[in-house]
Amino acid sequence: MTHEIDPNSIYQDIGVTPVINAAGPITMFGGTKLRPEVHSAMNAASQTMIDLHQLNDKAGEILASYAGAEAGMVTSGSAGALILQAAAVVAGSDKKKMRKLPNTEGMRNEIIIHNIHRFPYDQCYTAVGAKLIGVGDFLRCLPWELEGAINENTAAIAYLDAPFVSRNAMPLKEVVEIAHAHDLPVIVDAATMIPPRSNFTKYIDQGADLVLYSGGKGIRGPQGTGIMVGRKDLIQAARDNASPNQFIGRGLKVSKEEIIGLLQSVELLMATDEDEETAIFRDLSQMVVDALIELPGLEVSIEHDYKNYLIPTAVFRFTKDWNGPSRDTVLDRMKQGETPVYLYWLCGPDTLAVDPLNVDQDEMRVVISRLLEELTKKN
Ligand SMILES: *Cc1c(COP(=O)(O)O)cnc(C)c1O
Repeated sequence: MTHEIDPNSIYQDIGVTPVINAAGPITMFGGTKLRPEVHSAMNAASQTMIDLHQLNDKAGEILASYAGAEAGMVTSGSAGALILQAAAVVAGSDKKKMRKLPNTEGMRNEIIIHNIHRFPYDQCYTAVGAKLIGVGDFLRCLPWELEGAINENTAAIAYLDAPFVSRNAMPLKEVVEIAHAHDLPVIVDAATMIPPRSNFTKYIDQGADLVLYSGGKGIRGPQGTGIMVGRKDLIQAARDNASPNQFIGRGLKVSKEEIIGLLQSVELLMATDEDEETAIFRDLSQMVVDALIELPGLEVSIEHDYKNYLIPTAVFRFTKDWNGPSRDTVLDRMKQGETPVYLYWLCGPDTLAVDPLNVDQDEMRVVISRLLEELTKKN
C-alpha cells in the first residue's frame, strides 16, 4: 500500500523550512535528491528479511564490477569508509588487533599523507588510532620526501582527489609505484568525484588498493551510504572491522534497504547517458548565465573542467568593477526569505556558483529571480 505525502509539508509540519540547494551535493543542505525508482526499491527492500552477510557479498561483487576492482562493499558514507580504510591497513583481519583498536600498540600504525592533502575528514584515519605522517610542503612533494617517510611502522599511503584541492601533489601513479615497491597499499579518497562515470575505474586502473566514493553525492544514492572498492584482502579486512560485526566499525551500520537503494542508484546512474545528463545540467546553468551576463562588474560563465567542476556549473565572479553588495552579503541574503537558496561558495573568495545537480527548472527560476533581486540591491 502506498500513500502520497507532500514532500514539503513533511518538513513544514515539524517546523523545518524547505530550501533550494544550488550548492551541489552538500550534506548540510540535504545531500542529493533520490531518484523516484530508488524510493520504491528501498521501500520494498525494507519489508523482506535477509542474511546481511550474503547481501554484503552480492552488493560488493556488483560494485567491484563497476570499478573493475577485485572486491567492493557498501559503507556508511565516505567518512565511514575512511575509518574502515584505516582499520583495514592497521589491524587487517587479525581479531586480536581489531579488538584493541584504537590502541595500535604493536601494530604498523603510520599513514603517510601529502601535507597538501590534509583535510578535516582525515580525523577519520586517526579515529582508529593511526598516526598521520605529513610529507612535502604546501607547494609540492618530491619522490624522495615520500620515500624518506616510509619506515617499518608505515601502514599505508593516503591520497585525496577532490574539487579545489591543490593539484601539486605527486601523480597517483607515481605514489602507487613507490608504495608498491615497499609493499604498501595506497588508500584513495575520491568521495565527490562521480560523475564523471569514468572515475569509477580511474583510480583502480592507476593501481590504487582501496578507493572510496560517497553514495549520497553525485551518485544520488541514500545520503548515509558510500562505496569502497579495491583489493580483496583489504575489502575483507574492512568488512571484518565493520557492522554487523562487533568491532570498531559497528557504529558505521548500513541497513539492508540503504544497500539496495545504493545499488539501484549506481545502476540507474550507469544506465543514464552521461552526455544527455550533462546537456541538461548545461541548459540549467545557461539559464543563470543568460540572466546575469548583463550585470556590469560580474564575470559569468559555465565551468566544467572535471577537476573543480564535475558537472556544468554557472560560476560568477565579483570583479573589481563590481558596485553592488559584496559576495558574502549576497551569499547570506540568498539564505534568507521565504525559500532560502544555498549557493556554492567554496570556489574562491570573490566567486559564487549555482550547481544545478539538485535544482529543477522551476527551482532554477526561483534561484534566478532571487539572485537578480539581491545582486541589483544598492548595498
Ligand atoms: C564529502 C566528503 C567526505 C565525506 O563523505 P560522506 O559520504 O558525507 O561521509 C569525505 N572526503 C571528501 C573528500 C569529501 O568531499
